[in-house]
Amino acid sequence: MIIVMKPKTPIEKIEKIKMKMESLGCGIHESKGENYHLLGLVGDTSKIDQSQIQADRNVEKVIFVQEPYKKANRLFHPQGTVVKIGDRQIGGNRFSIIAGPCSVESEEQIVNIAEDIKESGASFLRGGAYKPRTSPYSFQGLRDEGLKLLKIAREKTGLPIVTELMSPDKIEKFVENVDVIQIGARNMQNFDLLKEVGKIDKPVLLKRGMSATIEELLMAAEYIMSEGNEKVILCERGIRTFEKYTRNTLDLSAIPVIKKYSHLPVIVDPSHAAGLWWLVEPLAKAAVAVGADGLMVEVHNDPANAKCDGQQSITPERFRNLMEKLKQLVSIENKEI
Ligand code: PEP
Ligand code: MN
Repeated sequence: MIIVMKPKTPIEKIEKIKMKMESLGCGIHESKGENYHLLGLVGDTSKIDQSQIQADRNVEKVIFVQEPYKKANRLFHPQGTVVKIGDRQIGGNRFSIIAGPCSVESEEQIVNIAEDIKESGASFLRGGAYKPRTSPYSFQGLRDEGLKLLKIAREKTGLPIVTELMSPDKIEKFVENVDVIQIGARNMQNFDLLKEVGKIDKPVLLKRGMSATIEELLMAAEYIMSEGNEKVILCERGIRTFEKYTRNTLDLSAIPVIKKYSHLPVIVDPSHAAGLWWLVEPLAKAAVAVGADGLMVEVHNDPANAKCDGQQSITPERFRNLMEKLKQLVSIENKEI
């Protein structure tokens, strides 16, 4: 962090700021020009409240040299993180596929879909039990019953289950029953929830908020990691733009950018990004090309009668076909499904 003092700031005022910064544990490199006086702070600047510095009337501006996230930063962890889930993993040389319906609807539905996606090569089963819906009148999920049905599908197929947690009061239930806890786009900045999942020993799939910057996503990951849980998987699921044709706009460049600045694995959700089933395949292929560590895809055996997100769900047959194409594509990237 560099503090640029205003021209002609009295020396005692500069000394006062320097003393304050030193008391917070920072080293200071000073540089005096004709007009400006620069204070370069080195060491741990995490305890510094930048708004207090900016409030000082003698400060012209503050320039940030380093990103505000530490634990999620590749600078301090050059090797890419691989999150292990039983005998499976997300990250490394794997391209991991999470597939399943938007929401769990019945035992027959979730078990049939789980069997189909497993046969096609998916590694994880997704399915919402507690659903974050825009309208309070829409289907809210089968809740506890949905969790039970997911467990039945896991028992029958061996696929680990990924499902969304919406509130901290269900955390124990999720720790006990779920393999990967999903934090949805709408809760990406629910800081109390992030802190709670930071205290447990369970992988967390953190989806990017629909209006969140990449830095905000990484700061949300930092909330989880700062509490001790470093098993975080990031997910790009499209952001809001002026374009109305698609449900969201898939930010493909976010993948290489996140990979540059963070060691955490990152997957792509083409279903919620596109909002249209026929766009899932091209976006899924693009995710491979930009270096994603996997996909989360919505698959439904009867999209026209799905209780949630049928318009963006592909059928098990189309999923099988997609998987065959992806297997070839990932080999070009030296990865395997
Ligand atoms: C979901 O994956 O079911 C979901 C609700 O996604 P998002 O949080 O990205 O909208
Ligand atoms: Mn959905």
